[in-house]
Amino acid sequence: MVASCRGPDVIVMGGGPSGATCATLVAQRGHQVTLYERERFPRYHIGESFMPETYWVLRRLGVLDQLKSSPFVKKFSVQFVSETGQESQPFYFFEINPHESSQTWQVLRSEFDELLLNNARKHGVQVHEGTRVMDVVFEGDRIRHLRIQHSDGREEMVWAPVIVDATGQSSLIANRLKIRRPDPRLKKGAVWTYYQGAYRDPGLDEGATLVLHVAGKQGWFWYIPLHHDIVSVGVVSSIEYLFHNRGSHEQIFYEEVERCPAVQRRLACGRRVSGFFATRDFSYKATRCAGPGWVLIGDAFGFLDPIYSSGVFLALKSGELAADAIVEGFEKGDLSGMQLGKWAPQFVRGMEAMRKLVYAFYEGFNFGRFVREYPQYRRHIIDLLVGDLFKEGVEEVFEAMRRYVDLPETETVAIC
Ligand SMILES: Cc1cc2nc3c(=O)[nH]c(=O)nc-3n(C[C@H](O)[C@H](O)[C@H](O)COP(=O)(O)OP(=O)(O)OC[C@H]3O[C@@H](n4cnc5c(N)ncnc54)[C@H](O)[C@@H]3O)c2cc1C
Repeated sequence: MVASCRGPDVIVMGGGPSGATCATLVAQRGHQVTLYERERFPRYHIGESFMPETYWVLRRLGVLDQLKSSPFVKKFSVQFVSETGQESQPFYFFEINPHESSQTWQVLRSEFDELLLNNARKHGVQVHEGTRVMDVVFEGDRIRHLRIQHSDGREEMVWAPVIVDATGQSSLIANRLKIRRPDPRLKKGAVWTYYQGAYRDPGLDEGATLVLHVAGKQGWFWYIPLHHDIVSVGVVSSIEYLFHNRGSHEQIFYEEVERCPAVQRRLACGRRVSGFFATRDFSYKATRCAGPGWVLIGDAFGFLDPIYSSGVFLALKSGELAADAIVEGFEKGDLSGMQLGKWAPQFVRGMEAMRKLVYAFYEGFNFGRFVREYPQYRRHIIDLLVGDLFKEGVEEVFEAMRRYVDLPETETVAIC
């Protein structure tokens, strides 16, 4: 087998939201892009609730009309339910912005991801499904080639001037270079399933994401209404609490449902329509995001926590920012790590704002009471909940929050 020197300008590893976004936006600018995805779509994936700020990337990708005419449930708000069952006022996203971008969607990821991948194809991306990247072979700081395996077992060495890692939690490059760091405090796990016919609030709140505390605040449930009358419902807690000396995933799930009467009531009129899923240790970040001829995006760079549904937004956003840096890099003849990762400092500042909000939640911070006491910060909180993480001044809310809760210092990331 000989490594081929002729080929595409860009190879994207992974065809989830970050990879499809980056590939599409680079191809839109006339570059040859090849994408390798190990699965065949449609394939199952968790991560169904969106933040409104996804709108702008989805618009640039040209898929808004498809989303608007899709059966995906419209999401206008998020609502928190205390361990005693007390419901906060819904945080309606349009409160701060009456634009159509304030409405977002709850999606079946198999359908959404396929839509984005087909859109990449439409824009000229060469998509190879059922093709797994087996290894990323480095020579110093540069990638010498990728070893890929096609679905028929055939192996091939491939290379391009720019390699984008969008392999999600597999984080191929970050693991290879041992630069992936778990979050020191967010050692969480999740167990989830799907119900049909479970209760939904009426009207505008029908598509709301609910975040419901379990008694003793040991954990929380997500409750995400999807189309076909399906609800995605899952519990998140510390790995130790959720999995140590516990039974099957089914037992864990139902024990936690018993500790959360607000979820129990909602599920009572529905029936379970899937088995149980579980995952753990999903919060981490790479210590750098790029090198000469390579860049990390989406979960392959880092993932925070499911609590505010920020994962897909950050995947789309990093895919977009990396695509712009790649296109500019080709124009300038500069494919250095500094160029390919130039977007990272600002992006990580936004991610860090979200991380503080995540820590505050797990420290038991009461957002409802906070905005009642400091109504001037309600807007900032909603800005963060919609995903407007990069806005000037939004961070001042953390100064006020620090009076009540221990928040982490802002971390930075090396570009390369
Ligand atoms: C419990 C839980 C709940 C979540 N809930 C939400 C939510 O409600 N809202 C939200 O926005 N986010 C949520 N997320 C996060 C969300 O799932 C991710 O942030 C998002 O999918 C990241 O997109 P991505 O494109 O970076 O990676 P992925 O969507 O994971 O895509 C990566 C792709 O790479 C492919 N791949 C992997 N390895 C290889 C390889 N070696 N070769 C070729 N292809 C490969 C995979 O098959 C996959 O298709 C949740 C996460 C967890 C853990």
